[in-house]
Amino acid sequence: MKVKNLWLAAWSLMVTACGSHGDSGSVAPAIPSDSEIETRVKEIVSGMSLDDKVGQMCEVTIDVVCADSTPDGSAQLDTAKVNAVFGQYRVGSVLNTPQGQAQDPETWNRIISGIQKASMEYIGIPDIFGVDQNHGTTYTIGGTLFPQEINMAASWNRDLVREGAAICAYESRACDIPWVYNPVMDLGRNPVWSRIWESFGEDPYLNGVMAVAMVEGYQGGDPNHVGPMNVGACLKHYMAYGNPVSGKDRTPSSINTIDLREKYFTPFKMAIEAGALSVMVNSGVNNGMPFHANKEMLTGWLKEGLNWDGMIVTDWADIHNLWKRDKIAADYKEAIMLAINAGVDMSMTPYDMEFCTLLKELVEEGKVSHERIDDAVSRIIRFKLRLGLFERPNTLIADYPLFGSDGHAAKALEMAVQSEVLLKNEDGLLPLHTGKRILVTGPNANTMRSLNGGWSYTWQGSDDPRFHQQYNTIYEALCNEYGAANVVLEQGMDYVQDYGKWELEENVRINKAVAAARGVDVIVACIGEDSYCETPGNTNDLHLSANQTALVKALAATGKPIILVLNEGRPRIIREIEPLAKAVIDVFLPGNYGGDALALLMSGKRNFSARMPITYPKWINALATYDHKPCETVETMSGAYDYAATVDVQWPFGYGLSYTTFEYSNLRIDKAEFSSDDTLKISVDVKNTGSVEGMDAVILYSKDLVASITPDVLRVRRFDKISLKPGETKTVEFTLPATDLAFVGYDGEWIIEKGDFEFIVGGKVEKAVCTDTRKI
Ligand code: BGC
Repeated sequence: MKVKNLWLAAWSLMVTACGSHGDSGSVAPAIPSDSEIETRVKEIVSGMSLDDKVGQMCEVTIDVVCADSTPDGSAQLDTAKVNAVFGQYRVGSVLNTPQGQAQDPETWNRIISGIQKASMEYIGIPDIFGVDQNHGTTYTIGGTLFPQEINMAASWNRDLVREGAAICAYESRACDIPWVYNPVMDLGRNPVWSRIWESFGEDPYLNGVMAVAMVEGYQGGDPNHVGPMNVGACLKHYMAYGNPVSGKDRTPSSINTIDLREKYFTPFKMAIEAGALSVMVNSGVNNGMPFHANKEMLTGWLKEGLNWDGMIVTDWADIHNLWKRDKIAADYKEAIMLAINAGVDMSMTPYDMEFCTLLKELVEEGKVSHERIDDAVSRIIRFKLRLGLFERPNTLIADYPLFGSDGHAAKALEMAVQSEVLLKNEDGLLPLHTGKRILVTGPNANTMRSLNGGWSYTWQGSDDPRFHQQYNTIYEALCNEYGAANVVLEQGMDYVQDYGKWELEENVRINKAVAAARGVDVIVACIGEDSYCETPGNTNDLHLSANQTALVKALAATGKPIILVLNEGRPRIIREIEPLAKAVIDVFLPGNYGGDALALLMSGKRNFSARMPITYPKWINALATYDHKPCETVETMSGAYDYAATVDVQWPFGYGLSYTTFEYSNLRIDKAEFSSDDTLKISVDVKNTGSVEGMDAVILYSKDLVASITPDVLRVRRFDKISLKPGETKTVEFTLPATDLAFVGYDGEWIIEKGDFEFIVGGKVEKAVCTDTRKI
């Protein structure tokens, strides 16, 4: 699907021409200003009272306007609450799903229409309603759920990601939702973190490309005129949320300015320059400073540095966190002052309107300037105008006949197929042809909840069959593929509690599973994690739980071949049991069609093509990303004192097997020497040397051999996904401006240095020399 129009292409050329890294000096606006919209922004803001303005800056959760209970249990607005929120406080935004669970499109339409009616009648400005739609329509019954973002990244297929986001936008609008809190683009660089599956994995470039594709899919081609089939995107969480020191959610990180600028900021910059209209702030604290109070990051780097006129919203209750949790403010009022002066435009309070009262006082006391308020409110009104909400406050299901259609489901299935990673396949155990007798075991064997993960019908992921009974678990999908008579289900254990605390279960039934294994040809052990989300998903131990490890060991003693199916939001350490399995597939969180996709892949009807978007750790004290420093790598360890300091991983970033083989040859660079102004053309021939068709993610890495600060051992620079028939060869060509090889130096500035670079694709290596050093 091509959504970028010529206008956007021309605009991105202009932005690029104004400095490749664009975060210093004068840059072109990230989103061009539209004179008609700007005139209307001025008119509307100049007619607003201070009460109207602080109200627009307030966002409350849906519970604040809904009835606590209703006779028939349905979600209903509460008139008195609605009148207070819109009539008295002039609130600008509402978020979240009623009753904390999925609703049907008609209920969504009814609730949001009621909200818009009140907002228009009382304020004359439409509400903007926001929902987390991480992998499709999170909170809508019958909507299309895609695999989670970690899977999308594993597909290395940006076109599918763009198409998926466009489907999500369409189905969101069918529910009257114009704003989604996605993409998540926290670099998942700490595998312990409970939100790693919400991200596109550990690499900045992969994150940036996938986030750009998502923004294009959500918003369409023109960020000033987002039509009724599209929604506003919200990049989150700005920034560096994915690498807390402890691995636990919302605990401090300690990321230096070099990495912040080079790795964490870059993907946000890419997505902002693709037109992203809003940003949500990271709930965490870096180097002692909460992001919600960090003026340098919010106003300096993001708004001024990128010359971006979009809107910044807080995360959940994070202004409260500045005083209640982080203790950098004495009370709520001081916290509001810090956040608004740092650059926050809208506060997801999300339960109070006291924010409005206190912010008004701050303005009257001169502690927050009228200019800052007008700037924030202009950004909010501009966003609402760009989304067309003034002309069309509501979009209704009747106009969206493709909601939950077979075509949308087919895309979700395709994404699942392309996102499940084959990590091991000894003796060609896979594909597994029909006629084999199969034991399906493990706690993930027969549940939709673990296939979908969190943000699926409920925040933590739901077990409620009302939402997903029409989809197939792994067991059901294997029955469909291999015939129910050939497939035995004996799980050995169940998840018995929410939030992954199932390890406490004592009633395991491992012996029954072992007995069942004796009668089959092959064991499919579906292990990993139950669904979780955010802080409830914190863990003290990244190892796979003891029960599951014991199950696999007991099954291995039967001598029957084991296929491990890892169904998990983060890579649980499986060092002890991996050698016991002949085949390993990491399906991550592949969504409602993940079981079907697995069956197609296991049977060989489809071929594996996914590659790891994260490094799979082997040891708890050897957590590293692929772009680590040379001193962590075995071959450069001469001179090191402690050889156990080297990184030893289970599976590296970028790893993934196929049923066919690919041969790379003829890697060539159009220039043996290049200057920092040059653009390189790097190409490689890829041949399918096996006997079945296959897709391959062709990844171009670079390696800066010597630099003024110790360089990363590898960096992804470009990638493409291609499909090859047996015997077929394709040439893949990458265009790479030399400035993309720059890094952030010790002084915090971007620099490209002269010297040798290696370019690596599919194990082939070519060298080229940069002839000058230049700050950019
Ligand atoms: C999460 C955000 C989410 C927000 C609104 C927060 O707890 O951190 O990712 O967008 O809630 O639901």
